[in-house]
Amino acid sequence: MKLKDKTQVFFLISLAALVMVLAGFSALGFRYFALYTAEMHARSVAETIKVGLTESMIHGTIDKRQQFLARLATVPGVAAVRVMRGPAVIKQFGPGLAGERSDGLSGADIEAVLADGKERFGIDDKNTDLIFRAVIPYIANDHGVPNCLQCHAVASGAVLGVVAIDVPLTEKRRQSLIAVGLVSLAVLLAALAALAIMRRMMNPLTEAAQAVQDVTAQAVGGDFSGRIHRRSNDELGDIARNINRLMEFLEREVSTIRTRVSQLMGHHIDDGGNQLSLTTEMVESLVTVSQFKQAIEEDQTKLDIYLRIAEVLGQKYDFKRFSIYEVAASKNRMTPVLVDGEVGANCRYCDPQITVDSSFCRARRTGHEVNAVEFPGLCTMFRPAAAGDAHICLPITQTGSAGCVVQMVISAEHAPLARLLAPFVAVYLREAGPVLEAKRLMEHLRENSLRDAMTGLYNRRFLEEYIGTLVAGNQRRKSTITVLMLDLDFFKQVNDVHGHEAGDKVLKTLADVLLRNVRSSDIAVRYGGEEFLLALMDTSGDAAMKVAEKIRAEVEATKVPIAGGMLQKTISIGVAEFPGDSDTFWQIVKFADVALYAAKAGGRNRVVRFTPDMWDVNAHY
Ligand code: GH3
Ligand code: MG
Ligand code: MG
Repeated sequence: MKLKDKTQVFFLISLAALVMVLAGFSALGFRYFALYTAEMHARSVAETIKVGLTESMIHGTIDKRQQFLARLATVPGVAAVRVMRGPAVIKQFGPGLAGERSDGLSGADIEAVLADGKERFGIDDKNTDLIFRAVIPYIANDHGVPNCLQCHAVASGAVLGVVAIDVPLTEKRRQSLIAVGLVSLAVLLAALAALAIMRRMMNPLTEAAQAVQDVTAQAVGGDFSGRIHRRSNDELGDIARNINRLMEFLEREVSTIRTRVSQLMGHHIDDGGNQLSLTTEMVESLVTVSQFKQAIEEDQTKLDIYLRIAEVLGQKYDFKRFSIYEVAASKNRMTPVLVDGEVGANCRYCDPQITVDSSFCRARRTGHEVNAVEFPGLCTMFRPAAAGDAHICLPITQTGSAGCVVQMVISAEHAPLARLLAPFVAVYLREAGPVLEAKRLMEHLRENSLRDAMTGLYNRRFLEEYIGTLVAGNQRRKSTITVLMLDLDFFKQVNDVHGHEAGDKVLKTLADVLLRNVRSSDIAVRYGGEEFLLALMDTSGDAAMKVAEKIRAEVEATKVPIAGGMLQKTISIGVAEFPGDSDTFWQIVKFADVALYAAKAGGRNRVVRFTPDMWDVNAHY
C-alpha cells in the first residue's frame, strides 16, 4: 500500500473513531444533563408542594389543597403529580383525598419510598413518551420552621408522605439527539476539511517519496541520470537537493572511472546495461590483468608466458582451439610455439606457408586484429578444421610490429560469445607485448653473451654454464659425448703473412665447416683464439673419429679467398670420449687437448684419438 493511501486510511479510521467517541460523549453528556435538570426540577416541585401544603396547614386551608394539587399538574415541565399520605398521617388525620392514599396501584416505587423513606428516581420509557419519575419522601423533623412535630404526632424521621412527580423528557431527548447530531456533523465536516487540507499537505510529501523511489530505483539499475524536481525550500527541498547532488556525484565519478578503466583496458564499455556493474566488472578484469602482468613479468622464459596466455585463452575465456605463433627477429619466418596448448606442435589451422614467409599471415603483416567472425574469409591462410569454423587472430605487438600472433579458432555456435570476449583477450595480449619484448631482449643478450661474435659459435662461458645440464642429460640417457679439440696448424703465419683480417676470414670459414659437419644437438665452441671444441652428443668415440676425419679433410680442401689469392690451411684434432676415457667432463676436455698435442707432435693435419698412455707421457699438461 502506498504512503498516501496508508495515510488516508489511517486518517479515515481516526476520523470515524473521533466522530463515534464525540457522539457517544455528547449523548452521555446530554443524558446526564437532562437527568440532572429533571431531578432538580422534581425536587423544586416537591419542595414547592411541601411549602404549599405546610402553608395550607398553618393557615387552615388544607382542605382546599385539591385545587392546588390539580394546578400543579399543569405547571410546565411536570406531567403528573401525586401526593400520598404516609401511614402515620393517615392514622392522625384520616385517609385524605382519593389520590392521597395508597391504593395498591400507586406503583412499587411509591410503596417502597413510603416504607423506607428513601427517595427514588427512575426513567420510564415503556410508552412512546420518556418520563423521569421522582418519588421523594416528606420526612418529619423537629428542627425546621415550622416544626413538623407541632402538628404531626409522629417521631422525628417518620415518613409523613411522598410526592411522585413525572417530568416529561421526550422533548429534551429529541433536542439532545438533534444537538448530538449537529455536533457530530460539525466534527465530521471539520474532520473532512482537515482531511482535504492534509491531502493537500501530503501531496508534496508523497510526490517527493515517489520521486526518491524512482530516482533511487533507477540508480540501483546503474542509471544515475534521474533527478528530483525541487518544489520547496523545506526539508523536502533539502532531501531533493541532496539526492540530486548524490546522483550527480555518482554519475560523474562512475563515468570518470569507466572512462579511465576503458582507457586502461583499451576497450570501450558498452553503454547499455548497468553502468556500475559493468564498471565493477571492468575494474575486476583490470585487477586480473594486472595480476597476469605481474605473473608474466616474474616468469623466466617466453614459453612460460605463452603457457600463461594459453591458460587465459583456454580456461578463462574457453577458447579451446588456438595457436600462438612467434615471429622470428628477421620477421620473415614465424613458428607455432603452442597449438591447442601443445608445445612445439605443427601449424594446425593455417597454411604452413606462413611459417616460411610470415607476410602471408595477415595479422603479422598488418599488426592488426583479423576478425573472420565479423568479416568471414578475411585471411586466406586460415584452414578451418570443421565446417562453420572461423578465426580471430590478434597480434602481440613488440617494438612496433607483431612479435607474436594469437589465433583463436571459433565454432559457429561459440561465435557470438567469442566476439564479445576477444577484446578482453586483446587486453591480456597488450600487457604481454612489452613483457615478451623484454624477455626476448634478455634472451638475445644472454645468447650474445654466450656466443662468440665473430664466428657465431658458442664461447667457453657457454660451455662452463651448460655443460653440467648436458652431462646430466647424457648420464640419464646412459649415452656418450665425444669431445673434439681442434687447432689450426701454423695459423700464426696467416696473420704474419696475410694480416689479421685474412686470419679472421680463415677462422670464420672454419666455423662454417664445423657447423656443417655437426648436428643441431651438438655443441660447437670457439674455445680459444684459433682453438675450437666440439661436443658431439650421443656419439661414440669411433663415430666421432669419422666426423673429425671428415672435418679435417674438408678444412684441408677448403680454399679461403683472401685479398690477392687463396689460402688453404690444415687442422689438427684431438678426440676423447665421455665417459669412456674419464667420468669427469673437464678431464675429457683435457684428454682431447692432450690428443691434439699429440696430433701436432705427430706432424699436424691429423686426427688423434686419446689413449691413456698419452696422459702419462704428457703429464706436465
Ligand atoms: P700450431 O700449428 O702449433 O698451432 O701453430 P700456430 O701458429 O697456430 O701456433 P699458435 O697456436 O701458438 O698460434 C695462435 C695464433 O692465433 C696466435 C694469434 O696471433 C692467432 N690468433 C688467435 N686469435 C686470433 C684471432 O681472433 N684472429 C686472428 N686473425 N688471429 C688470431
Ligand atoms: Mg693454438
Ligand atoms: Mg694453431
